[in-house]
Amino acid sequence: HLQDTVTLNNGVQMPWLGLGVFKAKEGDEVVQAVKSAIRHGYRSIDTASAYRNEEGVGQAVRSALEENNLQREEVFITSKVWNSEQGYETTLKSFDDSLKRLGLEYLDLFLVHWPVKGKYKETWRALEKVYAEGKVRAIGVSNFQIHHLEDLLSEAKVVPVVNQVEFHPYLTQKDLLRYCTDKGIQLEAWSPLGQGHLLEHETLLNIAAKYGKTVAQVILRWDLQLGVVTIPKSVREARILENADVFDFELSTEEILTIDGLNRNQRFGSDPDTNIPK
Ligand code: NAD
Repeated sequence: HLQDTVTLNNGVQMPWLGLGVFKAKEGDEVVQAVKSAIRHGYRSIDTASAYRNEEGVGQAVRSALEENNLQREEVFITSKVWNSEQGYETTLKSFDDSLKRLGLEYLDLFLVHWPVKGKYKETWRALEKVYAEGKVRAIGVSNFQIHHLEDLLSEAKVVPVVNQVEFHPYLTQKDLLRYCTDKGIQLEAWSPLGQGHLLEHETLLNIAAKYGKTVAQVILRWDLQLGVVTIPKSVREARILENADVFDFELSTEEILTIDGLNRNQRFGSDPDTNIPK
């Protein structure tokens, strides 16, 4: 069910599937995408200060709540502090700026977007502060490798609720998934569809044909069966609907292992250890 949730390590419930809006243009494009997603049952939206579309996201969320007779508590809104904003005071400001642009009274989840060397622990202290003040229901990280998490956890007062990382059949992140599961950190998949590059893969096409599903749906189903939260991006209504229609079939254990076997440790995005975006 599209509104099914996972309980995070602080008790907060997060939908298993949400809409990602990276590269959705500020203005009509992002507004229409978010409104359409919520109208079709999505309850989670993933944005970031870096996406430069928080105003549109906020506007769309507010009107979708009204149009669909929903309460604010029924949607889960994530944003992230950008790399150039990291540090203690600058992160506090970044959080307030995001909240203001979104026009919301609180966020559901705020993430450290990348582990910027020498900065992410100070950034985390700022997240702990806004969390303690009740301005955000949960705090987490993104693009953290095991060694970043080890380092953070050695000093953190609050354990991150999620680690949002690049995750798809070419990058299955087995060690990181196991590590996060052990620590009670929910893994969340970004670029679950490999930014569209995986959709013609023959193995995946064969599995999809068996269920009368698309490759996108098979990959998203694989995420869910692995216990990974997923946030596919689309601004097209038909694809927004398609990506959410993954709750009426189940992959076999063998198919899960076949998809796991496609791993090539291949990233389409940046490597958190070598080329963090500026
Ligand atoms: P994605 O894997 O979700 O792929 C999105 C692209 O795939 C779309 O632009 C579209 O071209 C295509 N697509 C989507 N649904 C389709 C369908 N049903 N059929 C055919 N094509 C389809 O890639 P993404 O946008 O990079 O990742 C998803 C979300 O993850 C982002 O929007 C963002 O919210 C988040 N993200 C986070 C980070 C991070 O550093 N934390 C980085 C990248 C993305």
